[in-house]
Amino acid sequence: MKLDRLNKHGSGAYFPAFLLFLYLTNKKQTDLKTLTNLLFILAFFSFLGCSNQSSDNLADDKSGSDTSAETINYIPGYIKLHKSGELKKRGEELWERMKMCDICPRNCKVNRFEGKRGQCGANSDLEIATYGPHFGEEYAFVGKGGTGRIFFTNCPMRCVFCLTHKISCEGSGEKYSIEDLAEMMLSIQQSGCSNICLVTPTHYIPHILLAIDIAAGKGLMLPIIYNTGGFENSEVLKYLDGVIDIYLTDFKYGCNEEAGKYSLGAFNYVDSTKKALIEMQRQVGTAKKDPKTGLWQKGLIIRHLIMPNNVSCSKEIIEWISKNLPKETYITIMITYEPLYNAKNYPAINRNITKKEYMDVINAAKDAGLTNVHVYD
Ligand code: SF4
Repeated sequence: MKLDRLNKHGSGAYFPAFLLFLYLTNKKQTDLKTLTNLLFILAFFSFLGCSNQSSDNLADDKSGSDTSAETINYIPGYIKLHKSGELKKRGEELWERMKMCDICPRNCKVNRFEGKRGQCGANSDLEIATYGPHFGEEYAFVGKGGTGRIFFTNCPMRCVFCLTHKISCEGSGEKYSIEDLAEMMLSIQQSGCSNICLVTPTHYIPHILLAIDIAAGKGLMLPIIYNTGGFENSEVLKYLDGVIDIYLTDFKYGCNEEAGKYSLGAFNYVDSTKKALIEMQRQVGTAKKDPKTGLWQKGLIIRHLIMPNNVSCSKEIIEWISKNLPKETYITIMITYEPLYNAKNYPAINRNITKKEYMDVINAAKDAGLTNVHVYD
């Protein structure tokens, strides 16, 4: 079982350490000026290291592998779909579904064109909070140029402990046209980002498909990451087949009752998410990195946030994954829970997790035979 500790800070320490070694072993011949130069180089490489990924092994077994040995000859699938007209057709079909919206499992059936907002908080206007290069992720997502994050306003989940509640629950953001979204994607590519990362995109899938279609016609070539809370309509996800390269999805709860309690009545979360994960796996398979760049290029990556008092029903999630997805599915266990936003009103989740709670989940993953589990702190 591969069990690494991931964070966004780099090691970058080997070369500077080598320089110091050289200095110490030759200090009789080294003057003060040389030492100053070495210290400058040390500082420079330490700075570079900040964008690298560190990986401290917590277990010795190397049987799992997150880097494919095979080279992926990458051409975005959406190029072909754009050329055939299929991408536009899919976008237009989904656009119509906003008249009685069932884009996500909330299935509100509101007419978003009349300005009505569903439980996600969105009407038919495209609203975006921020966009541009972002470096606050593991190296495999950001590379040298950063991930080109587009953070959409509103969210179908509406968790009471939401870290980004101003954007996801309180509507912070601006209106943009579909053409604007296409230009954002192209400007992200122009600025040297490694990919486009759509954050909380679910309720805007129609807009996104139409924007990718426009951008593809103007030269967009970047891989696309779909970063979601996992609460997806698996039938709607089929429209993304061949468009999305990497599904980066949460699996937040293994029990519907808890999902309903802490995510605005999402009592169908578990069933919907299980179907969605099967569909994502069908489309992109197990996550693979480009062996040349070390960047994620295609596949499914699941994130699970451990919550206090096991309200996330973590063991049920682990068990389901081990039985329904490949054992080498890339899973990140997140131990970063904090009682933010409205969590203070819910005693069971109004604290951080304990070490025992964390170790119980890790042991469950080992026992279930999962071979590609990582810890993000
Ligand atoms: S996308 Fe929004 S409006 Fe549509 S079903 Fe989901 S919550 Fe309701």
